[in-house]
Amino acid sequence: MALAVVLIRGTQQKTDLGLNLTLANACPKCGTPLPAVRVPKNFRQALWGGWTCAKCGVELDKWGRPRSD
Ligand SMILES: [Zn+2]
Repeated sequence: MALAVVLIRGTQQKTDLGLNLTLANACPKCGTPLPAVRVPKNFRQALWGGWTCAKCGVELDKWGRPRSD
C-alpha cells in the first residue's frame, strides 16, 4: 500500500508522482488551447506527462504549470 500512499500524497501536493485527473486545457502563459493528444517531446514528458506549448514553447508539467527546472 506504500505506492498508493505515495500516489495520493503526490496528487494532493501536485508532484510528479501524483495523478492528474483534471487536466488543464489551456496554456497558462499564452492561453492557447492544448491538444487532447500530447506527444511527449522528451523523456521527462514521456515519463511524467506534461507537454510543450506549440505557440509560446513553454514547457508545462502534467498539472499545467510551467516547469522552472
Ligand atoms: Zn503557450
